[in-house]
Amino acid sequence: MRRSLVAANWKMNGSKASIMELLGVMLKRLDAAATQADILVCPPAPYYELCAGILKGGAVKLGAQNAHEAEFGAFTGEVAAHMLTDFGISMVILGHSERRSGGETDEQVASKCVAVLAQGMLPIVCIGETLQERKAGQAESVVERQLVAVLDQCGIDALSAAVIAYEPVWAIGTGETATPAQAQQMHAFIRGLVAQRSESIATEMRILYGGSVNAGNAAQLFAQKDIDGGLVGGASLKPEEFITICKSVSK
Ligand code: PEP
Repeated sequence: MRRSLVAANWKMNGSKASIMELLGVMLKRLDAAATQADILVCPPAPYYELCAGILKGGAVKLGAQNAHEAEFGAFTGEVAAHMLTDFGISMVILGHSERRSGGETDEQVASKCVAVLAQGMLPIVCIGETLQERKAGQAESVVERQLVAVLDQCGIDALSAAVIAYEPVWAIGTGETATPAQAQQMHAFIRGLVAQRSESIATEMRILYGGSVNAGNAAQLFAQKDIDGGLVGGASLKPEEFITICKSVSK
């Protein structure tokens, strides 16, 4: 039985004051231990320590939005995977479309995945097609290419400790959501690709949906057979809405 996961991707938003307020409301109003999902917040890097202190010992977990594939070195502005473990970070978003569109390649995402797994953290690997690719009938082939790059480099066994996030690029931050049927179809396709390498890992692997999830559409999306929660951007900055999304998990 897969346990759902709802992950908040705050992207490059927030300040010390606003994050303290946001987490304060969340922790007061959301009994995370009683929800049916694991709950994760991924703040910008300068706030890891602050968030780690606030979340310490609680049911809401701390995640990161990225990690570099190298262990150390001359990579100005980057953060290595092992550095994240110093803050108690347990999961790392990788290959977000906002990074891929800046030049991050499938191979780099796969290398990052190897680095994150080596540190005992769980990668949340984002895959998804652009609108142009969907219109050209390439949605499945793009998703397959992105997924296979990670499967090939990490190996299927290592990926038993990974989460996939299907995020159609055309639905991210646009207010346009994939219909539950569209999302379910792609999630089933992704699970099928994993099943070609291991039936048992495919059955256990959590596949999140991301793309304009909000309080109004979360329940229907999360009710789909192959959707195991969500990766939530904009709506995760509104505590009441995010709490409603977390409570929309019904399986
Ligand atoms: C995201 O950033 O991963 C995301 C899905 O954003 P939004 O929910 O705002 O579309």
